[in-house]
Amino acid sequence: MSQLRLDPLNGRWSVISEERRERPSAFQPRLLPVEADTRPCPFCPGGHSDDDLPPTLELGAGDGWEVRVVPNRYPAFEGSVPMAVTNLGPVFTQAPGSGIHEVLLLGPEHNRSWGELDGHRSALVMQAVAARMTAHSALPGLRYSQAIVNSGREAGASLEHPHCQLMGIPFVPREITDEQAGFARFTGNCLLCTTLDAEESAETRVVYVDDDVLVVCPYWSGTPFEMLVIPRRHGAHLAKASADDLAAVGRALQRGLAALRSRLGDIAYNVIFHSAPYRSAGDFHWHAHVLPKATTHAGFELGTGVVINVVSPEEAASSLRGCAP
Ligand SMILES: [Zn+2]
Ligand SMILES: [Zn+2]
Ligand SMILES: [Zn+2]
Repeated sequence: MSQLRLDPLNGRWSVISEERRERPSAFQPRLLPVEADTRPCPFCPGGHSDDDLPPTLELGAGDGWEVRVVPNRYPAFEGSVPMAVTNLGPVFTQAPGSGIHEVLLLGPEHNRSWGELDGHRSALVMQAVAARMTAHSALPGLRYSQAIVNSGREAGASLEHPHCQLMGIPFVPREITDEQAGFARFTGNCLLCTTLDAEESAETRVVYVDDDVLVVCPYWSGTPFEMLVIPRRHGAHLAKASADDLAAVGRALQRGLAALRSRLGDIAYNVIFHSAPYRSAGDFHWHAHVLPKATTHAGFELGTGVVINVVSPEEAASSLRGCAP
């Protein structure tokens, strides 16, 4: 029998339904390469991103960069016009798409994704994300920055070279206001500090744990092999986390993604960082979601916002633990 589990972060129900995995064609990890063309990669050293606008940040010791942030050539958000909502009629409401859209290269190597990074590099990547968020937060019109990794075509990547994207936007998006409401609703201590304690005691859904960070397939997983990365130290803002905590989350992501790859092959996935909006009151605990593209959301999910998960998080975590390097 299926089971409903409540995601206390966003208030939505997930359906854990392992029976549905038995239907024909259910749950086939697909392995499409990101790009089949042979054009030179713009992000490799010497590629055309070198000729575009100057980088906003470069980190690394010695010659050349190890981690680099460049403006996105095709920005979804651009410019600094203040957020001003205009009503063009009873149902036509618009505002300028101001903001910043950047690409953060995980390294000069074309084929080294987060799961293959060493501890030094994954720490540097997290440091760069924090540094750019600090820069975004200083801009008066920006309210929130979304850092993401799209890896693989099904996850929305258009270029293979491993990279993050950083979008600084002039409003707080619904997913974040939903999570803020989840923290506000939760009675007692912080929602994610409590989750960390409860999942660590339960053990069955833990993928990786150390003194600074926990990776679990959360109890309310809506997606097969979904992972939640929670830094142990409570803090609302990723940009204000200590260097140690940033390094710990970078390392934990590396472990989780490496386990995912050895369990499911080169599956597409998204990594999503969630941090409190800039200049916002209210409780929050920054974290990262790993969402593998193992299944496609169909009409029911789109119609209801209720996700059906055919692999229980207990089963997912136990098989990922077995694969952890
Ligand atoms: Zn490249
Ligand atoms: Zn907390
Ligand atoms: Zn979140």
